[in-house]
Amino acid sequence: MAAKNRKPRLAVWKFASCDGCQLSLLDCEDELLAVAGAVDIAYFLEATRGAVRGRYDLSLVEGSVTTASDAARIQDVRARSRTLVTIGACATAGGIQALRNWADVKEYASVVYARPDYIQTLATSTAIADHVAVDFELRGCPISKRQLLEVISAMLAGRRPVTPPHSVCIECKLKGNVCVMVALGTPCLGPVTHAGCGAICPSYNRGCYGCYGPMETPNTLSLSDGLHKLGMDKRGLMQVYRTFNASAGPFREESDRHDG
Ligand code: SF4
Ligand code: SF4
Repeated sequence: MAAKNRKPRLAVWKFASCDGCQLSLLDCEDELLAVAGAVDIAYFLEATRGAVRGRYDLSLVEGSVTTASDAARIQDVRARSRTLVTIGACATAGGIQALRNWADVKEYASVVYARPDYIQTLATSTAIADHVAVDFELRGCPISKRQLLEVISAMLAGRRPVTPPHSVCIECKLKGNVCVMVALGTPCLGPVTHAGCGAICPSYNRGCYGCYGPMETPNTLSLSDGLHKLGMDKRGLMQVYRTFNASAGPFREESDRHDG
């Protein structure tokens, strides 16, 4: 993917986010040396002082668009990136900050800041794909470092990353977990949530709260019916889908169905 005689250039960009997904790359520890050997880490302000300007072979984008300047900046990042991959719930769905999409952001600012007139922000938090073409979306809050390495390797090799689109329930079955919904009556979003974490929460007898966002074609209607039978009321059903991936299509639609 890079010009002959040079290593592919990797850039890591931050928009509105907590930095946790970028830290997943730094958390790769042993594998990071191999990544650093395979690519030229040309722009990664979280990790390096220097920054190579110009064009990049692979851009990893963390964070959502919440300001007018970020809306302009992502256009520039796209124009300078051969391949653009969004990483994490903020970049792929707007993140927890997308809760503002149901609220009055001016009212929020007036409560939080002593001088809200200094705050320049958009009324919404939106995914990067709402602004530019995205080549691949990697889900999670934060993302899995195993999956991140797979995406980087795949993109450098010019193949599609292997990140199964099935639900967390499949991962539970593969681990031999006892279902927390069936056995314990614990509400769990696993049936509608994208796999990738290895079913961490049910492995510790906790319900999944959907941090990997919606799986491919999730049956949220059926799950909500099941959650209702476990005692969750209308308000609970509205809230359970409104967390890190609140603005991801199927979760947004299902939460709206129980709103009001
Ligand atoms: S515990 Fe949750 S994720 Fe695991 S099988 Fe049951 S419903 Fe699915
Ligand atoms: S089980 Fe659900 S909430 Fe827990 S880490 Fe996995 S996707 Fe996130």
